[in-house]
Amino acid sequence: MWTGLKKCIPTTRAGRRELSAISEMESEEVLVAKMKSPVIYAARAELRPLVIHGPQPGGQLTITTEVENYPGFAEGIQGPELMQQFEEQAKRFGTEFLVTFVNKVDLSRRPFTLWTDEGHEVKAETLIVASGASAKWLGVPGEAPAPEGLGGMGVSACATCDGFFFKGKPIVVVGGGDTAMEEATFLTRYASRVTVVHRRDSLRASKIMQDKAFKNPKIDFVWNAELREILGSPETGVTGVRLYDIKAGEESEFACEGVFIAIGHKPNTDVFKGWLDMDEVGYIKTAGVSMATNIPGVFACGDAQDSVYRQAVTAAGTGCMAAIDAERFLDSLPIETSTGESVTIEGEVVSADQQSVTMPDGEVVSNIPDDQPPPADGAGQPGGVYARPSTEL
Ligand SMILES: Cc1cc2nc3c(=O)[nH]c(=O)nc-3n(C[C@H](O)[C@H](O)[C@H](O)COP(=O)(O)OP(=O)(O)OC[C@H]3O[C@@H](n4cnc5c(N)ncnc54)[C@H](O)[C@@H]3O)c2cc1C
Repeated sequence: MWTGLKKCIPTTRAGRRELSAISEMESEEVLVAKMKSPVIYAARAELRPLVIHGPQPGGQLTITTEVENYPGFAEGIQGPELMQQFEEQAKRFGTEFLVTFVNKVDLSRRPFTLWTDEGHEVKAETLIVASGASAKWLGVPGEAPAPEGLGGMGVSACATCDGFFFKGKPIVVVGGGDTAMEEATFLTRYASRVTVVHRRDSLRASKIMQDKAFKNPKIDFVWNAELREILGSPETGVTGVRLYDIKAGEESEFACEGVFIAIGHKPNTDVFKGWLDMDEVGYIKTAGVSMATNIPGVFACGDAQDSVYRQAVTAAGTGCMAAIDAERFLDSLPIETSTGESVTIEGEVVSADQQSVTMPDGEVVSNIPDDQPPPADGAGQPGGVYARPSTEL
């Protein structure tokens, strides 16, 4: 997740101790919880971003090995190294980093408030959510990222990313939904054979995806089977899988050189539920040509809002868009919301009829000058009733 802030104010004792450097940054303008292009753009725009990494600093690319499709690296680059370069590039322009988990947010008024597992309370003028998505895994032996398992050494959850490494090799795809059919079909471009292992005797995938897979001569199916273990070693890579035949109650080994787990993704957006509009899976809805969400000043980018492409370069591209959106948002305050209220950079909300101002602490004050009698009908009228001047910004 990445967030755009004006001020970063740790209020607890723990927060003060851990954030001593950051707490001095009264001009902090962007708080981030992921470190792709949004940070670099925001930092170069002198928004002095703060990245909040969650449980996985560097994100999904830190659990893969070779990345061959990110532009600018003709020979490819290791995922963790690419993330390290992002971080260094962002730091060069003054970005600060904080490793903690955002567990609660209040987006009802600006500045927005975020709370973390370590007890920080952070105030944000803008917020960019780049919390990504997580591939769902089976949790079987051999599946974990290397060196614990063979993840990145023949085990993957991304055919677009890793399919190329399996030229001429037999591979297994686990799953029975649209994701699995899409991955299996795509992988037939490279693999000598793709075997779909599914725990039922029919697929959940849409009819059109099923038809495509059934017609593909390079795809075959093992039905009613659970994958129980991925076999191999760091020296050999993947050599096979252990399958359990649910009907026969028997285990067997199946030879292959790659395993793709294709049982879906879960966007890491639970903490924003109830605040941001999402689809049924939890992907944040953005406004098409911009990265704006339903809340003015909150933007989303990367896999947290992308159920379709889910690539490093698309995450970086939408991150760039979100950073520019956030910068323009801050530049164009006060802005009018869809309800007709205007929101100032101090987080004051001027009512649609211009009669009152709700302060950031919730106090409602009159917006009518002392020497001006309120209009007879109570409604905002020209000639006397005015909004707070935007020069306060
Ligand atoms: C095994 C694997 C291999 C891949 N290989 C490639 C490849 O070769 N090429 C390619 O283009 N793409 C590849 N991808 C896809 C690519 O990694 C993603 O598309 C990309 O990382 C998405 O970036 P993101 O910033 O949106 O999210 P992520 O990389 O998922 O990062 C999300 C960040 O947000 C943090 N976070 C989440 N919730 C919170 C919270 N509540 N508070 C604070 N922080 C939080 C996480 O800790 C993490 O740091 C691969 C993915 C996987 C899983």
